[in-house]
Amino acid sequence: MSVTSQGTALITGASSGIGAVYADRLAKRGFDLVLVARDGARLDALAERLAEETGRGIDVLRADLTDAADLAKVAGRLSTDASITLLVNNAGMSLNGSLLENEAPALERIIALNVTAPTLLASAAGKLFVGRGGAIINIASVLALAPEMFDGVYSGTKAYLLNLTLGLASAHAESKLRVQAVLPGATRTEIWERSGKDVDALPAEWVMEVGDLVDAALAGFDKGETVTIPPLADEGQWLAYDAARKAMAPNLSRRDVAARYR
Ligand code: NAP
Repeated sequence: MSVTSQGTALITGASSGIGAVYADRLAKRGFDLVLVARDGARLDALAERLAEETGRGIDVLRADLTDAADLAKVAGRLSTDASITLLVNNAGMSLNGSLLENEAPALERIIALNVTAPTLLASAAGKLFVGRGGAIINIASVLALAPEMFDGVYSGTKAYLLNLTLGLASAHAESKLRVQAVLPGATRTEIWERSGKDVDALPAEWVMEVGDLVDAALAGFDKGETVTIPPLADEGQWLAYDAARKAMAPNLSRRDVAARYR
């Protein structure tokens, strides 16, 4: 059965985990793909399998997104390839240890990958998508809402992506640009061992399988959600949190100092 062509999706961090499953699901939905990560051999193997299974056009763009020249190359592809209609800002890393246990190079690397890269790529894509139509999916984390549960640097980078998404969605609500933040909880991927952690040390009922995560995230995308939290059973908890935040907004900038500080 043939699937209608959806344009091209550029997926960062497509060589494993969540990004590789997005590649699989989006190719099956009719997207051609540009797969971005450092491991060219893994990207080539995935591209070959998906091209064979789906008949879609699959390109590999090898890039280290912490490297300014490589990042510019990926941003350039977004700026010049008119077929691209979807950016999945998925590549990310976790720290091995806390803020106080890491030195500058590791701290700079996580900020470069989790913050700088998705920002510059969203900017390149968003400038074009507002006019011609397109969507940006930012893979954040539930830790954006729960900094006490984990290291504050990683959760801070994910809170940044949630803010970026909410700001973009609000600023361009009337345009053809769509933005979604996906907030996974613990999901069984390589990110755990890559950062010296054992996902199996968590209670089994906390850990989602990666296929379930991506299928739920795409269900949220299809519903038009700006924020999708696949593990959160009670949607009312998110809605109440979001409503409380928005209720505070009109009171957050005032000439007068609050009485308790006088
Ligand atoms: P993963 O399997 O480790 O995937 C990370 C991907 O990012 C890989 O494709 C990796 O490919 C790529 N990557 C890493 N460093 C890169 C660099 N410098 N330049 C370019 N690409 C790079 O982990 P994952 O869980 O699927 O992570 C995907 C996203 O989900 C991340 O943003 C993560 O923070 C988020 N997330 C994960 C969980 C979880 O529990 N798994 C929970 C919440 C959010 P190469 O090594 O080939 O470059």
